[in-house]
Amino acid sequence: MDCLFCAIIDGKIPSKKVYEDELCYAFLDIAPQANEHIIIVPRRHIASLARAADADQALLGHLMLACAKIAKLRGIDASGYRVVTNIGPHSGQTVDHLHLHLLGGEALGGFGA
Ligand code: AMP
Ligand code: ZN
Repeated sequence: MDCLFCAIIDGKIPSKKVYEDELCYAFLDIAPQANEHIIIVPRRHIASLARAADADQALLGHLMLACAKIAKLRGIDASGYRVVTNIGPHSGQTVDHLHLHLLGGEALGGFGA
């Protein structure tokens, strides 16, 4: 399967790693939309949240908690941050491997701003 994020996880395409554990890998977004913009991906390929199964419940929780850990590592836990996942055409999803965007390091526009 030809998947950009699988290739990044496998080290076939370079990335700037910020965190990894047995279930996920996190790296700097190549085109950051905020001062801090980190992509968190499960090591196992899932196309999007829409393709996650009930059996993935623990993995999805793990990804959310990884975001909180990474925010702490990056020193943005107190200032706050946003976690977003895009699903399908209307969201603008461009990479069909489930990923969370962790955005922060500055006041964010949009929701609630
Ligand atoms: P999405 O639009 O939700 O599918 O997000 C895909 C994200 O992956 C975008 O924010 C891109 O900037 C980012 N991206 C694409 N290619 C790379 C890459 N080689 N390394 C890091 N981030 C990437
Ligand atoms: Zn993949």
